[in-house]
Amino acid sequence: MESRRTQLSVTKETSDTPITSEEWVMAWAVDATTGQPRYILELGEDNRGGQCNCKCPSCDQMLIAVNAGKTVWKRRPHFRHPTGAAREKCVIVSARKAVDAMFARQQQIVLPCRRRSRELEGLSGRYFNAWVEQSAETVGITDCTFEDKTRALLTLNDGRRLLVQLVGRGEASNGGNLDNGITARIEIRADDPAMAHMAPEDILSRLELSWSQGCWIRHWSDDALDVDAEAQARAQAAAALDWIEDDDLPEDLSPAERRETLLHREVKAILVRERRIRVPELNAIVDWRYANGHVVSKCWSQPAEEITLSSVKLEVHLGRSVPDVIATWVTEDGLSHSLLIEVTVTNPITGERIERLSSFGWPALEIDIGRMGGVVNREEFTRLVVDEVAGKRWLYHPTLEEERSRLLAALKADEAWAVEVEQRKQAILAVTATDWANRYLDAVRRRWREQSLFGDQLPDTENWRQSQADVVEAIHSLGEHGYPATLLDEYPLRRVIARILSFHDGTGIEYRQDSWGIINAILCDVAEARKWHTLYLIALKIYPPPLSDVHRDKVKAWRNNVVKSIRHEEDTYVRETTYDRMIGLLFPEMRPALREPFGTPLYIPERERDDDSWIENRTDSLDQVSEPRSLPNAPHNIDSRLLDASGEAASQGKSPILFAKGYAGQIEGLSVEQIVNRLIEIGVARNKWMWS
Ligand SMILES: [Zn+2]
Repeated sequence: MESRRTQLSVTKETSDTPITSEEWVMAWAVDATTGQPRYILELGEDNRGGQCNCKCPSCDQMLIAVNAGKTVWKRRPHFRHPTGAAREKCVIVSARKAVDAMFARQQQIVLPCRRRSRELEGLSGRYFNAWVEQSAETVGITDCTFEDKTRALLTLNDGRRLLVQLVGRGEASNGGNLDNGITARIEIRADDPAMAHMAPEDILSRLELSWSQGCWIRHWSDDALDVDAEAQARAQAAAALDWIEDDDLPEDLSPAERRETLLHREVKAILVRERRIRVPELNAIVDWRYANGHVVSKCWSQPAEEITLSSVKLEVHLGRSVPDVIATWVTEDGLSHSLLIEVTVTNPITGERIERLSSFGWPALEIDIGRMGGVVNREEFTRLVVDEVAGKRWLYHPTLEEERSRLLAALKADEAWAVEVEQRKQAILAVTATDWANRYLDAVRRRWREQSLFGDQLPDTENWRQSQADVVEAIHSLGEHGYPATLLDEYPLRRVIARILSFHDGTGIEYRQDSWGIINAILCDVAEARKWHTLYLIALKIYPPPLSDVHRDKVKAWRNNVVKSIRHEEDTYVRETTYDRMIGLLFPEMRPALREPFGTPLYIPERERDDDSWIENRTDSLDQVSEPRSLPNAPHNIDSRLLDASGEAASQGKSPILFAKGYAGQIEGLSVEQIVNRLIEIGVARNKWMWS
């Protein structure tokens, strides 16, 4: 076994009661012949005085053993220098000698535990600490030899040797000079001149106390412990991605640059291992300001997706740029695509760098470690790089550029279209609705003239196509003017218009019969078709056709039948008024009659009217022309009261007409009809039977 030495320094500890030089008493000296320590009480009478053969271990003067061998004394036995009081240094050296002697007598000592720590600064500037410990051990002393006046060499029972240095007052510890690479050194706190007069037992107990409080200056295992501690600290730093083990990087890189490089390598390693990366969504938004100042925007987006990678390369030189990582993948169409990945650690990426990366025309993705809140471990870093999109953003993406161009083109086209539509609309509105109505009727007539030449076949002539196109244009234009013209050329409205137009023109339009033939056709109407009959009766009044007496009587009977039905509140002939305004535009002569409520849901039978004067001479509304009516200055509070009351009636299941009959009795100046009309005007009721 290799013999190793430990140096033990015994340094002074502060004494509560410092002794003066006059009180210094030496109980210890060394044998002048053997150099062995001698305790005064071990000397017999024969060795008293100058016979002791003892010398001062410090100044080598022969000493006088005062009161040696006495069992009773006034002044305790001690060694005295012949010249008088011992010098301070002699007392201290004597005390050390005593300690040395005690080591030789000590059977067992406990070596304190040894802790070693290593602190490592990571590349990020963060510190990593590791501690390793050699536990305390009990060892036996087999031998003690004195190296010189201040050092004792203890040989332990396992062969190791422990060097003990006793440092007295006034002497600095200079243990560093004693290093020879394999010397362990322990520093314990023991003193002191007082030891010079202590009994062996006192010294032993004091030494033991000092020893247990001692601490290592050096230890046999220090080198191994240091290596261990450093390895642990490095492992911690490496786990936090803050250390490069195999540092093949240029010398002039700063720690921050080294860490960036480390993280770039880590990203590459992760991508090589995982072969996939989740990339964030793409969003393109383009604003466009119309010439009229209106701003519109269009957007396009593509959701986040995971890409399966085919290859990953680190820091490839591309022209003057070196992207951190280049990842490549192949799409289903067999085309290969590349993605540049920038890893940002602390400094934000500059606009110039983004521009340079964009110049390749490949998507460039930034992974910002800084946004992860500082230190990450390997596992977190892997998740960040592969699965997360929170720390990623597109620095550039060619698809975004394409989509922005596309959106801009679409916005411009939209504006051009909007301008065109607006111009067309203005052109339409420049022509009055009455003119469009006339153009419509004219086109219908031309279309029929062309059609009548071709029997039941669809005429494929220029005239026919033109008239059809004119019909469509007129319908569209009437719509622009706010008329419900969309279904004008569809059945049943087309047939209604054709019949009225036939009476108006005195000749069949879309009918090959004369007026009576058309009337006969009307009389054959069933179900819903009869709801238009009031219109025909109005038209026959205003555009009377030449009829025989028999036919005129038949028309009169039909009219009476319709009037009677309406007065009986049957809904067979009650006409929805949706198209009345438009029919009035097409046939202005019919307008006054169309305004009459008789034959419409607004009609209230005479017997229910309170105000008889108001309906005077109105025996047959279809014969009459009168001005439209409205409420006589209905104040707003009347409306609100009407609303409240009607709401209550509706909740009780009453119809508008039933409510109006009751309400007319409660309120002054309003007739049942006025109340119903008001309810319809303010939008509460659809007609006298139905609430809105
Ligand atoms: Zn001396």
